Amino acid sequence: MKPQNHLIEPQGNIKIQNHLTEPQGNTKIQTAIDAVMKAMRLCEQVQSEMVSTDAIQKTDRSPVTVADFGSQALICKAIGEAFPNNPIVAEESAQALKENASLLERVPGYVNQFCEDTVSAETVCEWIDRGSGKVGPNFWTLDPIDGTKGFLRRDQYAIALAHIVDGVVQLGVLGCPNLPYQLDAVESEALSFKPERGCLFVAIRGAGTHLYTKTGEFLEQIHVSETTHRFAESFESTHGDSDAHIKIANTLGIKEPPVQMDSQAKYGIVSRGEAALYIRLPNPAYPDYRECIWDHAAGAIVVEEAGGTVTDANGISLNFLTGKRMHENRGIVATNGKLHQHVLKALANL
Ligand code: AMP
Ligand code: MG
Repeated sequence: MKPQNHLIEPQGNIKIQNHLTEPQGNTKIQTAIDAVMKAMRLCEQVQSEMVSTDAIQKTDRSPVTVADFGSQALICKAIGEAFPNNPIVAEESAQALKENASLLERVPGYVNQFCEDTVSAETVCEWIDRGSGKVGPNFWTLDPIDGTKGFLRRDQYAIALAHIVDGVVQLGVLGCPNLPYQLDAVESEALSFKPERGCLFVAIRGAGTHLYTKTGEFLEQIHVSETTHRFAESFESTHGDSDAHIKIANTLGIKEPPVQMDSQAKYGIVSRGEAALYIRLPNPAYPDYRECIWDHAAGAIVVEEAGGTVTDANGISLNFLTGKRMHENRGIVATNGKLHQHVLKALANL
């Protein structure tokens, strides 16, 4: 797949086309895209220099890195300045960073590479804490690195930003720096072929889902596929119920092994027809686990605008207004649409 160069602006920004225009000009979409693209570059840079001490353990034991904080600082700065009245509900808080002197020392160095002025650690912490807003009628939600475990493994991860108005996701920008343009493109040493990587999904309510390279070159408008026979689940077995996932797949006649992948990149592969289903049933060991809004808002619109359907495992719409966690939902089912009722029926009979 060849990017179309004419769509790039000199600064590397995406030139918004007609299908992406919005009535008040392009401020919102362009701001969100630029911020996510910067964060993708920061993450890649951190990853290329990553040493083991860059990961600390949060109290919930999920690893968090220099890049999570840097990514959140950059995106919250951009969104906070452009839309000061709209809260941002983001995953990280500066508190954890302040408690780790060596991380605190390093994060501004990365953030500064993407800012015009040199800023202090204090300012970076202020930007990060712009992400401590509350869910409301018009807000943003951000996962600065979704799939931190994948990031640490140098596998899949995503930067996920969504704008939600009256409970409906209006815009989703999903940056997947390590996702190949085509999932099945296989690296071949003999042919010295390396699949091109780095995808940016942009979904706008009513205007479809468009795929760009990580540097903002337009690839194509994407659609789910009704002919794909494959399903996706988390790489992390503790984040779902893989035994139940396989049972559902068998009931549906899906024979291929699952694509096991970290982060909302799974929504990305459903949206471009590389998997028919992304299923995430609650892990029986954590019956009280409730999904976080930033783990699903951007991905859900990416699939919906590509023609797919997203609900929870009971067929209930995702409710992004119950706080940081979706207290009214259990699990996730994202499909090509055609398969959706069949999956829900199989789940009801499980
Ligand atoms: P994934 O890579 O799709 O598994 O998504 C990563 C996200 O899973 C993280 O951002 C966590 O918020 C979330 N997570 C952590 N523990 C669990 C759990 N027990 N069940 C479901 N999701 C989880
Ligand atoms: Mg996450």
